[in-house]
Amino acid sequence: MNKLTLLAWIVRSILFLTAFALLPAANATTSQFIYKPASPTIPAVDLQKVEGGHLERFQIPFQIQRLSDNVYWVSVSYYNVTVLVGKESVLLIDAPIARGKQILEAINTITNKPLSAIVYSHAHSDHIGGAGVILEESGNNNIELYATEAVSDELVSHQMTIPAPTRIISEGFYFEGHYLKVNPNLVGHTPDNTVFLIQDGNRTILHAVDMVHPDQLEFRNFSLAQDPIVFQNDLEALMSMDWDVMVTGHNNLGYKEDVRFLQNYIADIREYLGRGFSKFNFSDHIKGDLPYAWFNGYKIEVIDFAHELLARKYRKGREPEFDIVGKTHVEAFYWAMFTR
Ligand SMILES: [Zn+2]
Repeated sequence: MNKLTLLAWIVRSILFLTAFALLPAANATTSQFIYKPASPTIPAVDLQKVEGGHLERFQIPFQIQRLSDNVYWVSVSYYNVTVLVGKESVLLIDAPIARGKQILEAINTITNKPLSAIVYSHAHSDHIGGAGVILEESGNNNIELYATEAVSDELVSHQMTIPAPTRIISEGFYFEGHYLKVNPNLVGHTPDNTVFLIQDGNRTILHAVDMVHPDQLEFRNFSLAQDPIVFQNDLEALMSMDWDVMVTGHNNLGYKEDVRFLQNYIADIREYLGRGFSKFNFSDHIKGDLPYAWFNGYKIEVIDFAHELLARKYRKGREPEFDIVGKTHVEAFYWAMFTR
């Protein structure tokens, strides 16, 4: 190797290593987490997640990860629930549709105690539409169904055939010695969405559905958040609450690092949109007989501009998901910030 070739090699190596160091993490902040196979017996330590992706999770009936002495994360084909084993019986938070039997099977592998309570997080039937099957299959006619007044009202207004709540909850309630703190104020996803905090020994478990989806970019339009600005404020509220590990509706266990990633992602979207709003001139588009074109022309310019900046920062390493959801994320905040 002559001197020039050696020099070229060194320069190339430095460039390669620099480029590598600048790459965004493949997922949220993967390197911060510890990935292990799901364990129904050993509680996950801080920042521990469950190995494997959604394809593997679709191929097995369920996965169970213990989170504390009495609380378990149960995942059934990409839908997650919380199981709390009390002194006499079991409480379940959420009952995803078409997964009732597997959830009962999972509970039966954790404990011989009977299920006596199901809690609804919100009225979306994909997360609670399995309650009827669970009631039937369990053979227990005395299972209590807990929900806030807002969830109960939504179920009526949606005209869903999901079993109606039997106990209305508001600030919190006791289940066999465990206090479940109820927070009905994080309502960006839906006006009835409810999050729960369970203190168990030295761990606090948060159950928060359809807000943060660890290890992936968010679903389209941030899971169709009914109010993206409120949704963004909800993330701030999640950060200010005291908890150790989060059971989310989908994908892996969540930590504050996952919430922070999403907060930064949204802050970037808003910054890029802000730049787009000032770069392009709305009045340039005011022409023609009909107003629709004005809005559309401006919208396309601003969204394409912000989407391009977002892609530069977040697309690399996650191209397939970014190409499906990235633009919808920009659009959600465009509508929320500019016009509705
Ligand atoms: Zn939902």
